[in-house]
Amino acid sequence: MPFADLGLSDELLRAVGESGYTEPTPIQAATVPSVLMMRDIIGIAQTGTGKTAAFVLPMIDILGHGRSRARMPRSLILEPTRELAAQVAENFEKYGKYHKLSMALLIGGVQMGDQVKALEKGVDVLIATPGRLMDLFERGKILLTQCNLLVIDEADRMLDMGFIPDIETICTKLPTNRQTLLFSATMPPPIKKLADKFLSNPKTIEV
Ligand code: AMP
Repeated sequence: MPFADLGLSDELLRAVGESGYTEPTPIQAATVPSVLMMRDIIGIAQTGTGKTAAFVLPMIDILGHGRSRARMPRSLILEPTRELAAQVAENFEKYGKYHKLSMALLIGGVQMGDQVKALEKGVDVLIATPGRLMDLFERGKILLTQCNLLVIDEADRMLDMGFIPDIETICTKLPTNRQTLLFSATMPPPIKKLADKFLSNPKTIEV
């Protein structure tokens, strides 16, 4: 199936073409149209399957060009590690080069000052590790009440790292009528429970 059949915008297809990709991977072909139809998704896929683009591409089109009037973040991607968060941010920049979306990378190990400045200016997309996000939240630097699109990536690694209580807290700060995408290589019972609690009528996609 060609990329052009997934329902993505022409600008996005141009950015994808310039990345040198000719065909979507199976997880991309299965996930992108359902995300664009605003479904909640449980994606069971390993790293290396192209799962990052499977959520980043439709997210860019859902967010479009504009910035929220309230200047509050409209989407949040949670990653277990700084490295993964930085990789997702790179993907966002690569595929979103024709959109004027603003992004903040909220990870530990770097000064909070620049992150707070970015938040004050207003951002469309937050890419965060749970620890730093909770920290900013507790300092009153972040409001997630306009955040209608949530991605929980690498959920089983989040579990291994003890992040599930933080993720549960974060989920309760977002609007309940949001779209939620959860990706995991495996589905151990605590992740199944998390999905039952925070996803609504999800479509499960396994590759
Ligand atoms: P990921 O599973 O998201 O970590 O992606 C694994 C690798 O596949 C990355 O290096 C991507 O740049 C690459 N990739 C993602 N989508 C495609 C595609 N449709 N065709 C070829 N390579 C891709």
